Amino acid sequence: MVKGRIHSVETMGLVDGPGIRFVVFTQGCKLRCAYCHNPDTWECGKGEEISASDLVDKIKKYKNYFKASGGGVTFSGGEPLLQPEFLLECLKLCKENNIHTTLDTAGVGFGDYDEILKYVDLVMFDVKHIEEKDYKELVGGDINKSLEFLKACEKANTKLWIRQVVVPGITDSKEYLMDLKNNIDKMKNVEKIELLPYHVLGVNKYEGLGMKYRLEGVEPMNKELVKELQKEIWK
Ligand code: SF4
Repeated sequence: MVKGRIHSVETMGLVDGPGIRFVVFTQGCKLRCAYCHNPDTWECGKGEEISASDLVDKIKKYKNYFKASGGGVTFSGGEPLLQPEFLLECLKLCKENNIHTTLDTAGVGFGDYDEILKYVDLVMFDVKHIEEKDYKELVGGDINKSLEFLKACEKANTKLWIRQVVVPGITDSKEYLMDLKNNIDKMKNVEKIELLPYHVLGVNKYEGLGMKYRLEGVEPMNKELVKELQKEIWK
């Protein structure tokens, strides 16, 4: 029996893929994104232990309801790729039950993604930053790991939604977003690009966890401005 650790589930996700989604927030992440609003998902080994079959049984109870909306299940986190066996088993069981599967990821797992991607209908990929040095500074990881995952998606021809959090002073310049566009234009499997305005909704979690929030003082990104940038750059 394959078991994994999850932080929580959300039965009515509306922003985590097409239609209404059953969202599974897996526990554990190696990155430390400065703007992460789920720092409580970082630590591996915490959260609830559950078998893949028990989790998918739970998901199935909502199937009629999310199916009617064109939805399905989204594995988010944390970083779902950090529990590859558990993720693979969950995905297989979902596909056996004809459930649409989305993987919401920063692409930083252990490599060897081909088998997992066979059972993924859609990847929502979090770009973070396209420059190696800035990526490292913003999230504390190696950009090449996430690029390795993107290559695997390209090879498997997995449908991609690219997501970029637009952070004032970090990823909000037209120049940066044009560079992002030029990079994305080279990829054949991208279906959608979503610019997400930086917000501060998870900041109080840091206080509760006794952790320092690295972007303290950075104001939320103006939502209208982000819409305008998206329209202008992705005309
Ligand atoms: S990858 Fe996601 S969960 Fe991990 S630190 Fe970044 S925003 Fe948080």
